[in-house]
Amino acid sequence: PKRKQLTVDEYVKGVKEQNRAVLARAITLVESNAKKHLKLAQDVLTELMPHTGNSIRIGFSGVPGAGKSTLIEAFGMMLCERGHKVAVLAVDPSSTLTGGSILGDKTRMEQLSRHPNAYVRPSPAGGTLGGVARKTRETLLLCEAAGYDVIIVETVGVGQSEVAVRSMVDFFLVLMLTGAGDELQGMKKGIMEMADAMFINKADGPNKQAAQQARVELNRMLHLLPPITEGWATKAYTVSALTGEGVDHIWSVIKEHKEHMQENDLFLKRRNEQALRWFKDLIEEQVLAQFYEQEIIKSRLPEMQHQVLSGEAAATKAALELLEMTKK
Ligand code: GDP
Repeated sequence: PKRKQLTVDEYVKGVKEQNRAVLARAITLVESNAKKHLKLAQDVLTELMPHTGNSIRIGFSGVPGAGKSTLIEAFGMMLCERGHKVAVLAVDPSSTLTGGSILGDKTRMEQLSRHPNAYVRPSPAGGTLGGVARKTRETLLLCEAAGYDVIIVETVGVGQSEVAVRSMVDFFLVLMLTGAGDELQGMKKGIMEMADAMFINKADGPNKQAAQQARVELNRMLHLLPPITEGWATKAYTVSALTGEGVDHIWSVIKEHKEHMQENDLFLKRRNEQALRWFKDLIEEQVLAQFYEQEIIKSRLPEMQHQVLSGEAAATKAALELLEMTKK
């Protein structure tokens, strides 16, 4: 049965009162691609903006199988037991590329999902990475307005999704597995450069010693990289989501990092930079979309593409010509 659409006031009041059902509906609203929902969603967000910002935003990345959901569940449960309110969101654009999602299919974090202090939301489905990231960002704001003081944004360790998540969090954690030395060597330097901390998971049983060795080696490599957070040394640690050993330490490192950021006026600086970057990204996305939506472009693009491919026209010249056409 179709439910009655809530008014802006009803959304705002419900979210502020920490009503989970209303929060879920507000998130569905910002995730909607329907044009008629856009204005309503933006009105709701505008009203809630003064109530956002009061959280620590943590990015969690790692390849499939690294143990993200197991670890986030253990970490989230620990924080909930200590009285925190924890929201777990996800950026998983894989459904766009492959039709299946890497993060979302199985029932994940069952125990945490049932905890009254936790809210677990799967990645918005479909669309471009930019679209998925925008929705997750707005969901993050809604969760803050609903009183969640720890926001975890999970993503898979492939492609550009880490960059998107890095640009919406205060602290970016990369989860790893113990590998042979050459696996570490082959690890993308880019992802290491984005991390505020790296945790080697599954440091338990027969794997514990290898994990500790990997930590030493990883620390040596991290030492050579420029810091992502000014004055902060990104380090590697070991953890076991299974036994719980080291899970507490994740929180200590995050708190230490936050203190460092605040003492050096970096916390708000980073958030402000992120907000501006987001603003610019949105403009660029819209301008690009508007460009391609124009009839003249739609009708002329295929032919111009053909000319570029056949060598009849140089790419630069063809691009400039297309841009000129939109001005007429
Ligand atoms: P994700 O794909 O990164 O979310 O990984 P999962 O959390 O689904 O974990 C993948 C597999 O690793 C599962 O079978 C987990 O039970 C297992 N696993 C996760 N954490 C640990 C750990 O700390 N130690 C061990 N031994 N296994 C783990």
